[in-house]
Amino acid sequence: MKQKITILGSTGSIGVSTLDVIARHADRYQVVALTAHTRVDELARQCAQFQPEFAVVGTAQAAEQLKTRLVAHNLKTIVLYGASALCEVVLRADVIMAAIVGAAGLAPTLAAAQAGKKVLLANKEALVMSGQLFMDAVAEHGATLLPIDSEHNAIFQCLPHDFKRCPAQQGIAKILLTASGGPFLNRSLDSLHDVTPEQAIAHPNWVMGKKISIDSATMMNKGLEVIEAHWLFGTPVEQIEVVIHPQSVIHSMVSYVDGSVLAQLGNPDMRTPIAYGLAYPERIASGVNQLDITKMAQLSFQQPDLKQFPCLALAFDALRAGDTAPAILNAANEVAVQAFLDKKIGFLKIPELIAEVMNRVANRRVTDLAGIMEQDALARIAANLLIN
Ligand code: NAD
Ligand code: MG
Repeated sequence: MKQKITILGSTGSIGVSTLDVIARHADRYQVVALTAHTRVDELARQCAQFQPEFAVVGTAQAAEQLKTRLVAHNLKTIVLYGASALCEVVLRADVIMAAIVGAAGLAPTLAAAQAGKKVLLANKEALVMSGQLFMDAVAEHGATLLPIDSEHNAIFQCLPHDFKRCPAQQGIAKILLTASGGPFLNRSLDSLHDVTPEQAIAHPNWVMGKKISIDSATMMNKGLEVIEAHWLFGTPVEQIEVVIHPQSVIHSMVSYVDGSVLAQLGNPDMRTPIAYGLAYPERIASGVNQLDITKMAQLSFQQPDLKQFPCLALAFDALRAGDTAPAILNAANEVAVQAFLDKKIGFLKIPELIAEVMNRVANRRVTDLAGIMEQDALARIAANLLIN
């Protein structure tokens, strides 16, 4: 029996890599739905190749454009649009690749967890925003949650097979979350005030979407990943350590009380964690070249400087503050990154803006998605006011 899969965000970097792995294993996976926001041509090409039952886009206008393209290809794919359609198509599949970027991915990813699906989580913002609510939904509805983010996938691979989100009882001393340090690792903070979006996007090791590339340059990406690790593995903040490892060969490590450190290594290519998640607990070919360990001249490690990367410090603060502080942090960051990409603010304004929004928007405890989205909206309003 083939596994039915819906790919949320199929035209993005993770979406395209997922389809690349699936195309290598047509005997295992049947694509039920593909979704994209605006890139209609790319989505039409994917529909022609994978023939999904459903395709979802952002607007009615994009839906009309897509329908025209699909008719030309003689395809029977049903075209839907809007946020509620995303939630509908997750219900049609067994496996959901959650690869929308940002807060827009939360509702459909949570819907997948609530429907007890196998959720392959790339969309870290969804978990950062909803932490407890999301993990409760996974437990209550018997969903299977597998991390795709390379660090968390590495940690998952290094944990005991019967791991139960209770690190203290399983001899785990620490999680070592590796970070490349991004394109500005060896630059002083003062020298970064006039860097351009193009310079910030140019990541030394990974090819990714624009938002996560900027997050890597500020190291907010690592900050979001610390919060993600806390929720995925139940690890207290003081047992999560960020380690800069510029070569991105070790994707993360787990340190045990007996002194053992287990690491997962590989070439930096997201098809490895994607293939792992797709086939778990089996292993399938991903198209990624085998790592040639003899060519690794040097693997180096250093502690991150929180003064050089204030976004990382802000994320630790938000995790310690708890409740909706991570959701406020995330929303402020999304607005700040977009404003930087649009050249409305400079690179160094990103952490300043986030810190100011964290000061202005009151942290509250909420228990449902509506409450989280309200906090997200308040933070966006505050951030936009500050920018304008
Ligand atoms: P991307 O920008 O390349 O793709 C984003 C996808 O989301 C696109 O298909 C786009 O159409 C869709 N999308 C954007 N806005 C939307 C909206 N409002 N409504 C519906 N769909 C929308 O991003 P990416 O690099 O593939 O990253 C996707 C997610 O995976 C992010 O959360 C990122 O942090 C995470 N992730 C990415 C990588 C990577 O290597 N790219 C690694 C680890 C984690
Ligand atoms: Mg990562």
